[in-house]
Amino acid sequence: MLVRLLYASRATGGIDNESIEAILGQSRASNPAHGITGILCADVRSGVFMQTLEGGRTAINRLYANIVGDPRHTDVTLLDYAVIDERAFGAWHMGSIAIDRLNAGNILRYSETTTLDPYSMSAAAAQAFLLELARGAAVASRD
Ligand code: FAD
Repeated sequence: MLVRLLYASRATGGIDNESIEAILGQSRASNPAHGITGILCADVRSGVFMQTLEGGRTAINRLYANIVGDPRHTDVTLLDYAVIDERAFGAWHMGSIAIDRLNAGNILRYSETTTLDPYSMSAAAAQAFLLELARGAAVASRD
């Protein structure tokens, strides 16, 4: 059974290329073996993460438990959890988007302001935002 999980969190020590690469390195080393795909969106300015994870229910629940306990972020908030029939982010073992590379219009389409605040977005808007980014050219890396 496939599920998709979406959460938001706040980085405890800010977000820079080094911290993103450390997370992506771990993700890309582990996610393929557990059949996990998804996308990590990092707002460098506000220090907010948003991540969608897709895969088998057991694997996703296990990873989310790890993620919730990770000291690199706090305020980890589950925004959405659903059983799905097919993956939307299947091309990425963990794609990544750094918000500072995005056009403000990308954010404004789904948010109240040009500052990304997933805590005030509906789950549907947050998923649609990530999907739009994944379908566009903004995703930095695929594997
Ligand atoms: P590990 O040493 O990775 O695993 C211990 C054992 O559990 C191993 O035998 C391993 O094979 C098994 N195992 C690990 N994961 C699973 C699973 N999902 N299902 C079944 N068995 C499993 N880490 C990721 O791996 N992927 C991500 O996408 C990811 N995204 C992150 C996003 C953010 C914003 C942050 C802050 C961290 C993220 N991390 C991610 C890192 C994560 O929080 C843990 O640091 C990482 O999972 C390693 O945890 P660990 O050392 O306890 O487990």
